[in-house]
Amino acid sequence: MLASGTLLAKIGWSSFILLLATLVAAILFRRSFCGNVCPLVTLQELFARAGKKVLGKRSTVPAAADYWARYLKYVVLAVFTLLSAALGTLVIRPYDPWVTYHHLFSPELLDGFLIGLTVLLLTVVGSFFYDRVFCKYLCPMGAALTPFAKLGLFKIKRNAHTCINCSLCDKACPVNLPVSRLEKITDPECLDCDQCVNACPVKNTLVIEGPGGKRIGSTFRVVATFAIFLLVVGSTSLSGVFGWTMPPLTGGTSEGGKPAFTFEAIKGTDTWLAVSEASGIPKEAFVARFQLTEADLAQPIKTKAHAPGSTFDTEAVREWVKEKLH
Ligand code: SF4
Ligand code: SF4
Repeated sequence: MLASGTLLAKIGWSSFILLLATLVAAILFRRSFCGNVCPLVTLQELFARAGKKVLGKRSTVPAAADYWARYLKYVVLAVFTLLSAALGTLVIRPYDPWVTYHHLFSPELLDGFLIGLTVLLLTVVGSFFYDRVFCKYLCPMGAALTPFAKLGLFKIKRNAHTCINCSLCDKACPVNLPVSRLEKITDPECLDCDQCVNACPVKNTLVIEGPGGKRIGSTFRVVATFAIFLLVVGSTSLSGVFGWTMPPLTGGTSEGGKPAFTFEAIKGTDTWLAVSEASGIPKEAFVARFQLTEADLAQPIKTKAHAPGSTFDTEAVREWVKEKLH
């Protein structure tokens, strides 16, 4: 967006608004988004609980492998950020387990999200044995929030004078931090899930403390984090900036007084005819380029684009329309 003034296809202002809410939450409560809001954490937690019930214990990755593997998420963040900036497309989309989760019943699943599906399956199967495998090793969002580990205002502190060294906090920590040996938790791996705080048997020993020694409880931190999201998304929804649905093919008016067409808004669910009409590109051109039949024209693009053996996807259609219009 900074380079060209346009957003990547599949990215809307709503994505920036969600990022804004995450950053506001991070300034106050560090990675509370990761610990308390992210749906992938919920999924991992559910499978972890099931694993605990069935196996009775949690496995741990060998220390050296665990240490180096945690750097992978920074590689993921760097690679996909650079590739997206260079190519101008949302490169991570087919590999993203959360986007894949939303396409579990889509005809695009095996064709468009095979790697994302593999990552999602590895995440849930891995979570059955190990805690937070995706958060610890692969999540680029967790990597992006690293600066807030120190910058975030409210941090967990341990009172060494009242601590009885029971290690219950260490056992509760899903990312294996040695909480019982730390004075203050500023480790970027901490998810701010507060499981250590809730596990501590001695009152006022593990506390969440902010500027001026102001203390808050773990329930307050969860509620306040959700409140930030509700406030940001709610206010921008009411003002019409936050879109709950994908933008239509045409929006606003162009210079000639006609509804303006944006190729970025082409979705797999749009029909070929709708795109032809909105873009002004004759339907015959679509027929010739994508080898369509008359019957295909009234079908959603994704029916043809994600059929087995198809040589193009929705992104290719978008790119072709973009080239035709320039
Ligand atoms: S240190 Fe505490 S808050 Fe941080 S991840 Fe571990 S249990 Fe959660
Ligand atoms: S759970 Fe509380 S008392 Fe036990 S080691 Fe951790 S901080 Fe100390």
